[in-house]
Amino acid sequence: MPSATATDFPRAYDPAGGEARWYQRWEDAGAFRPETNPDGEPFCIVIPPPNVTGSLHMGHAFEHALIDATIRRKRMQGYAALWVPGSDHAGIATQNVVERELAKEGTDRHELGREVFIERVWEWKETYGGRITQQMRRMGSSCDWSRERFTMDEGLSRAVRVVFVRLYEEGLVYRANRIINWCPRCHTALSDIEVEHADVEGELVTIAYPFAEGDGVIEVATTRAETMLGDTGVAVHPDDERYRDVVGRMLVLPLQEREIPVVADDAVDPSFGTGAVKVTPAHDPNDFEIAQRHGLPAVDIFDENAVVNANGGRFEGEGRFAAREAVKEALAEAGRLVSVDTHHHAVGHCYRCHTVVEPRLSLQWFVKVAPLAVPAIEAVRENRTRFVPQRWEKLYFDWLEQLRDWCISRQIWWGHRIPAWYCDDCGEEIVSVEDPRGCRKCASRSLRQDEDVLDTWFSSALWPFSTLGWPEQTEDLERFYPNALLHTGFDIIYFWVARMMQMGLHFTGDVPFRHVAIHGLVRDAEGRKMSKSYGNAIDPLEMADRYGADALRFALVRAGSPGQDVPLAEEWVEGARNFVNKLWNAARFVAIGLDGSTLSELTASFDPARVARDGTLPERWILSRLEQTVRRVNESFERYDFADGVRELQHFTRDEFIELSKLSLRDDGQRRRVQEVLATALDTILRLLHPVIPFATEELWHRLGGEDLVATAPFPAPDVHVVDDAADAAMRTITEVVSAIRRFRSEHQISPKQRITAWVHPRGDGASGALQTLGTAVTELAGLDELVLDEQPRPPRAGEQRLVADGAEVVISFAGIVDVEAARAQADKQLAKLETELRRVEAKLANDAFIDRAPAEVVDAQRRRREEIAAAIAKLRSHRDLLR
Ligand SMILES: [Zn+2]
Ligand SMILES: [Zn+2]
Repeated sequence: MPSATATDFPRAYDPAGGEARWYQRWEDAGAFRPETNPDGEPFCIVIPPPNVTGSLHMGHAFEHALIDATIRRKRMQGYAALWVPGSDHAGIATQNVVERELAKEGTDRHELGREVFIERVWEWKETYGGRITQQMRRMGSSCDWSRERFTMDEGLSRAVRVVFVRLYEEGLVYRANRIINWCPRCHTALSDIEVEHADVEGELVTIAYPFAEGDGVIEVATTRAETMLGDTGVAVHPDDERYRDVVGRMLVLPLQEREIPVVADDAVDPSFGTGAVKVTPAHDPNDFEIAQRHGLPAVDIFDENAVVNANGGRFEGEGRFAAREAVKEALAEAGRLVSVDTHHHAVGHCYRCHTVVEPRLSLQWFVKVAPLAVPAIEAVRENRTRFVPQRWEKLYFDWLEQLRDWCISRQIWWGHRIPAWYCDDCGEEIVSVEDPRGCRKCASRSLRQDEDVLDTWFSSALWPFSTLGWPEQTEDLERFYPNALLHTGFDIIYFWVARMMQMGLHFTGDVPFRHVAIHGLVRDAEGRKMSKSYGNAIDPLEMADRYGADALRFALVRAGSPGQDVPLAEEWVEGARNFVNKLWNAARFVAIGLDGSTLSELTASFDPARVARDGTLPERWILSRLEQTVRRVNESFERYDFADGVRELQHFTRDEFIELSKLSLRDDGQRRRVQEVLATALDTILRLLHPVIPFATEELWHRLGGEDLVATAPFPAPDVHVVDDAADAAMRTITEVVSAIRRFRSEHQISPKQRITAWVHPRGDGASGALQTLGTAVTELAGLDELVLDEQPRPPRAGEQRLVADGAEVVISFAGIVDVEAARAQADKQLAKLETELRRVEAKLANDAFIDRAPAEVVDAQRRRREEIAAAIAKLRSHRDLLR
């Protein structure tokens, strides 16, 4: 395929047509399958499965851009790279979506019945569940779709059953009556981490309970007055002198007129309140434990909606908050209300619907986590799994060390139904992978399956191995487990990472992944969390339509250092698009200069050693810089610090390669060699950039006549070219001089047609030689009418200015070109602006509250900002003073 010419190489890049076409081309070529590199070392990443109800938000776009950059580079490096895609059935979320649809049709799931309802959810999933995977294709995610999984597909459902049954047989899954977190709106139990705590201004109500016989009362305090209806005792500390004589006596519970005992228990804190606490076993986990020790009954006063039931006597039918008021009123009337004080405390809310959670006594399934946590802690302590950055280990350890048993049963219908059956005739409990035909004890056919389903996180805890075929010993499992890496956010280290570690180690004997790369959150330009409710969320698909998926990926990855939050504004995506366009223009310019030769021809005949020996200064320099860029990109991508590598790559492409290409094609003496150097540099740049901007690089690769697909071309490795320090230093002088003059021109808005004179005094032989050789180029690039090389530094006279450049002193004349008055006024205006900003930053840094509360990174950033502004002010002042 011959290289492009000006006529078939459009002036501007248009992502709209090309992106979808290239994605199809990659998929058709099987480029995303690990079989592309059949002998390669395996490298597997499983996707943090998005909810099947989900649509792609900026958080996904960021995470996927990082995963894709990693996996595309590994694929190019020859690894059998596999990105396993899939989605989560998202129990409560999906059930809610379908229930809302049913409500619109005027029906509900109870009317439909369980079986029909589940069918409806599957229908919904078939119709809408693929949305997010289409959106991932749109963003260029190079997943192997032939290996796509769903947490409720056949294989994964079987894995869930096998795990549940084994844990049950090992005594690590059990069923018990416990106080759990109940959402009265979602009608299900929640695990401890599904409860979000918020500080609220509540009340502390003190109530007097009279003794059944004799005079006197005991005062108890509560934040939830209505729960007194379910009290079955009062507890005091055994060593508390104040109550020594009353332990064992009976009290009369007001309003309910029920006799309840005073018990002594070590769990009571004698210094809190009156030292006596009411015991409500059905509605508080600590009270439940006290009641167990003293044989106190549990009286449940609420139904599943948190409405008072028949056990609440005359308050039956009242909602919990109405009942609170009614109970206080009735206590006041009965003369038993001692006081009501304001009280700040934390209240748990459902993470799905934000309803206040109700502690509720119920029969649930639990995982006993302590024995599973031990190996999970050890594995990270022994570096068998490494967190990047390492500081996130702490959160992981803290969480695992204080784990309570995990409530895994949920009272919803959509999910993995618990594989436990109860015999109607003899009460036998049967837990089994296969549906049992009859009772193993009495042979009865009358078995009922447990109504509950498993917590969604139960199945996602198995994701790194279940997606690869476990419990079958498949080839994929053999090859791709442990996964090489997990990219994920810090916010699910305990929801998910810790659980995958526990389950992975328990069931496969090995860690689920070698590295966990933790990324930050995408925030808006002001650092606020993006959210629909603040109205500051940026839609990734809208950005991709407007600027191309490449531009969005580039903007995100360029900001993505490990563990750091990523600020994003639309202008930055636009800026990234401009970079892609610059690359396009440079490639087009080079293509036209290749006289019909292709990238593959020119790179094939290119001999790096010959250029190192005979090449011109710009040629040696560009290859030296290319080598350094290749090293830096590889080294920073290996640390998952994509931001560092991408910034370097952007700098090299925009500020060095593009300049060089303008310079060198003018020289006709060694045209073929110049073409080879440019083709080699461009070829390397495209391959380096491909993992981040896959579409534009593939399009360019083809237009320039690269071999096959860039998606499967080798990723550039270091040590191909010579790092030439002398050439670097000499060329730095050239680029510094040119950019100093250009800066001056743009600051004073000097028209490109206006030629100016510059006197340059080079410092050192390298700089001198470079300026002598490339004087003409500098003259052209900087728009000079004359470049005068001075042996001595030239003190600027009136109407001239000294410019700052590395390796040389530059003086230029602006007499008759720049309006001095206007330029001074402009500088003054800018100075005033900078000084205002400096005062603002200084005030912030002088504020102790800010220093104490803001994260260290934010404070550091402000300090750096202060330095930057101060430096800019000093520079601008000296610049202004020279304008006369
Ligand atoms: Zn809820
Ligand atoms: Zn039976």
